[in-house]
Formats: sequence, C-alpha cells, structure tokens
Amino acid sequence: MRKPTKNKSGHIEEAPKLKSTDPVVLELWVKSGGRCAFHGCNRYLLQDELTTNKAKLANIAHIVARRINGPRGKDPLPIEKRNEIDNLILLCTKCHTLIDKKEFQDIYSKEILLKYKKEHENRIRYITGLDSDSETVIIRMFNNIRGDSVTISNEEIRIAVLKGSERYPRYLGGENNIEINLTGLPQKISKTYWDAGKGKIDEIVGRLINPAIDKKEIKHLSVFAISRIPLLIYLGYKIGDKVPIDNYQKHRDGDEGWAWRDDSQTVTFKSSTIQQGSDNLKIAIILSVSGKISIDQLPSEITCAFTIAEISPENAPPNRNLLKNKCTLQSFRDVYEGLLRQIEKDYKKVKNIHIFPAIPAPVAIVCGRELLKEVSPSLLIYDRIDDEYKFTIGMN
Ligand SMILES: [Zn+2]
Ligand SMILES: [Zn+2]
Repeated sequence: MRKPTKNKSGHIEEAPKLKSTDPVVLELWVKSGGRCAFHGCNRYLLQDELTTNKAKLANIAHIVARRINGPRGKDPLPIEKRNEIDNLILLCTKCHTLIDKKEFQDIYSKEILLKYKKEHENRIRYITGLDSDSETVIIRMFNNIRGDSVTISNEEIRIAVLKGSERYPRYLGGENNIEINLTGLPQKISKTYWDAGKGKIDEIVGRLINPAIDKKEIKHLSVFAISRIPLLIYLGYKIGDKVPIDNYQKHRDGDEGWAWRDDSQTVTFKSSTIQQGSDNLKIAIILSVSGKISIDQLPSEITCAFTIAEISPENAPPNRNLLKNKCTLQSFRDVYEGLLRQIEKDYKKVKNIHIFPAIPAPVAIVCGRELLKEVSPSLLIYDRIDDEYKFTIGMN
C-alpha cells in the first residue's frame, strides 16, 4: 500500500488509492461473496447479467471517503484508517454512484452503510456455511383453486427453507425441478378427478422421486403443496418415510409467506372417542384442525354404527391459522400416530379406517406418511364436496 498524501504542514489529507492487488481488496471480495452489499441489490459482480460476459463490475467503495472533501469524508475517522476493511464495502457501479450522490448523502450515512455491509457480510458467511447436508430437494404440487392456478415462486421457496429449516434448495429453476401440476384435472370432483390426481402423483413419484432416493441423490425433501386434502394425503403416502421431509404451507395471515414461524404459539392436540359404536369393525376418525367437524355432518351410515374418534387442538379452537410452527405439526403427528397404534391394538380385525379431515396441507402429508410405518388398516379418505362428506381415495 502506498503512503498517504500529506499537505505542506505534514498533515495527512488523503488515503492512497487502493490497488486490486492490495490484500484488503481480496478480503473484501471474500467477505462480500462477490456480490453487491447494498441493501436489496446483491448483484453478482463477476458476470454482467445482460451480456453474461465476464466484466469488472465491482467497486471497492469507501464508506467514509479517502479524501476529507469526498462523500462522508468529514467524518472524524483518521485518514490512515480509511483503507481498512471496516471502512470498505463491495458495491456494483450503480449502487456506488447512488450512495456517493450529493443529494443522497444524508440518507446513505456512514451508519446506514455500515449496517448494510454488516448485514450482507453476515448473510454471505451464514449461507456459504451451509454444507451439502443442508441441501434439500423441492417438491411442488399445485392446482386450480376457485379457477385460479396457484403457483409457488422460487423466491418464496428459498426464503421458507432457509428461514424455517436452515436449508438450501437444489434444482430450483433447473430442468430437474419436481413439479406435480394438477391444473389439468377435470373441473368436476368425481372418481375421474381422484384417479387423474393419483395418476399424476404416481407418475412423478415413480419417475423422479423414488429412483433418486434409491440412488441417494435425494437425502431430504421439502414439500410445497396446494391441492384438495385427499391428494395431499395420497402424496404423503406415496413419498413414504425413506428420507426426512419438511412440509410447508402458505400462511394466510401476516406476511402470507411459506416460512414457519418459530416465535408463534405452539398448539397441542388430543384424541378422544366421541362415539362408541355398536360394530367394533367400524372405525372413523375426525380430524378437526383447520375447522370443526361435528358428527351430524358425517354420512348417516357412519353416524349410526361407527366408533368415532376425534383429534382436535387442546389449547385453541380449530381454525385455519392454527398451524404456524413445526412443533405444532409434531404434536399432531404424535397424537395421530398414537391413535392409529391404539386402534390397531384395540380393534385387531379392523380393515378400514374412515378419515374425515379438516386439516392444513402439512398435516395432510403427515397423515399419509405415517401410514407406512407398520402394517396398518387401509385409510379411506373423505372430502367435503358440495357441503357433504364423500368418499374419495383409499390407500394401503
Ligand atoms: Zn465512493
Ligand atoms: Zn448494487
């Protein structure tokens, strides 16, 4: 590094220009991950986005200028400290020009720029610290809801897996994206509808998921799914439990994102027998999670002879926004698994369990997955169609 410039009285006025070979320049490149540290920019600085040419887009910018009369240069920071790493921020040309404009210097103060730098560099360090065990493969399943096709963006997925599970997605945006597109299913909900939905799920799981799990190319899955509940249960059933899975849902309140919220209230669940039936081969389970299902809503052949158990939340009424964190999902899983095991033990000859679900998507996936653990009775899934519960899909 060259010596700082001095004025006639020997007073230092200006830090020397940095050269690309100065060690502090390399240090800044690494800390910034090769990306613009300006809040919200994050531009990759080794490649021009438009021409994809290798271009020199990076600016080693000073937070407090090299010179006293430069941007933010009146700050008391000694001249000899102005070329140190703590005073430098890696920026793209556009952001550098912006922060140095006279009219913006009150907005882009030393404090603000230091904050941007710190946030960006911390984020780069954190993300690059995720090793290959943190990799997850994304499964997206979506359909039309009231005529609108619902899509889930790559950005929403990235945020959700990073925030909620400290993972990063593989394949995102690539041709190996695992997508179960149900938008082409028939409008009318009928046997044809369920068969077509099952067919789609069978095809993707059989072609893209199972072989990759067997070859150990998939070690962890993250499921982002929107569809009718029986198809979600079926998806969970087909994926099974060979690899760990994180389930996500779109939260309808607050920021509407897909990330789990660790700071939210955990809801716990209980199971109870709400009707003792006359025929001990006939069992039904009501899952009152996102809404309350009462016995009189069930088909009459169920209400007259069946033993009916219900899983419901203990410390909150059933509602659409009840599932906000993974602990709540885990609590449901434990109670559900316990109930299935209890039924197997107490009703050994039961072949079918009739399920009436009012549940959010992640709970549905769990319901299908848990079925595989032991030899269980078949699940017969009902769905509310035109205000009536009708049989949809059976599994096992
Ligand atoms: Zn500058
Ligand atoms: Zn920038």
